[in-house]
Amino acid sequence: HAKRAGKNSYRFFDKQMYDNALIARRIEQGLRCSIERQELQLHYQPQIDIGSGKVRGCEALVRWYPKGVEQILPGQFIPIAEETGQIVAIGKWILREACEQYRRWVSEGCAPSYVAVNVSARQFKDPEFVEVVRGIIEETGMLPDTLMLEVTESVAMEQGEGAIGKLGELKQLGIKLSLDDFGTGYSALSSLQRYPFDTLKIDRSFIVQSQSGDQGAVMLEAIIRMSDGLNLEAIAEGVEDESQLLFLRALGCTLVQGFYYSRPIPGDQLGVLVTAGFKPLDGDK
Ligand code: C2E
Ligand code: MG
Ligand code: MG
Ligand code: MG
Repeated sequence: HAKRAGKNSYRFFDKQMYDNALIARRIEQGLRCSIERQELQLHYQPQIDIGSGKVRGCEALVRWYPKGVEQILPGQFIPIAEETGQIVAIGKWILREACEQYRRWVSEGCAPSYVAVNVSARQFKDPEFVEVVRGIIEETGMLPDTLMLEVTESVAMEQGEGAIGKLGELKQLGIKLSLDDFGTGYSALSSLQRYPFDTLKIDRSFIVQSQSGDQGAVMLEAIIRMSDGLNLEAIAEGVEDESQLLFLRALGCTLVQGFYYSRPIPGDQLGVLVTAGFKPLDGDK
């Protein structure tokens, strides 16, 4: 319907759409050979138990360094990989790579309890997804309960009964499940108890809002209480400073991930953090 708008706006939208489409096409083409050219890497961000300062687990986050151009962030290329279906192959690579890295940590004696891998909507929908996960666990010799999959709230809720069934099959494999970006989608709170999640990741926006007035804090507290009641472990994502940390602790949330402790880092550096740990919050008073 761009054509129905006035002449000027037609041209304006046309140009912008053209630019976006061009960028998307370049990204799609670049992604096609990103695996064979070894342009993809995983970084890992620790999830810390704030009381002890120990690294409990970590989240794998993909990084793309295309030859000859600047790094492109996942927020830009993952949605395109989703649309084109490329995420299915890339997602397999990510899962295998994370499991292989985990094995390296084990052999070096510096493995956290688990590595969490993000699963996108398109990947999760793939009829072969559960078999792919099973195959990779077997091939890499990964102990199932050292693998966690992160699924966003929208994926879990929009795919409804099908999602509950599929998550159940994954749970049967013995792996852990985490509900990512909680609070950003439209969760029917009442149905949450029917999903076999182990942890619930409180979206960063709640951590930010909790500091700018009472409403945010109330929401955060309600989410933490609810997780407790549903026997889900709450993880706060995007913790950037000490006041956020202390506030979360006061509300009873003790597992956090964020720049305050560490940005996502290469696997060998994550191993060093696991061995060293962080300063325990309870130890300094
Ligand atoms: P996500 O799964 O919610 O990942 C958390 C994002 O928050 C990461 O961004 C991480 O770097 C960032 N973050 C962590 N701590 C902080 C903090 O303290 N402050 C701020 N401002 N940000 C923080 P990243 O790596 O750019 O990834 C963005 C999104 O892209 C992810 O959101 C996820 O949806 C997607 N993604 C990243 N890696 C993968 C992957 O391997 N597979 C799939 N399917 N999606 C991925
Ligand atoms: Mg995630
Ligand atoms: Mg998240
Ligand atoms: Mg998020």
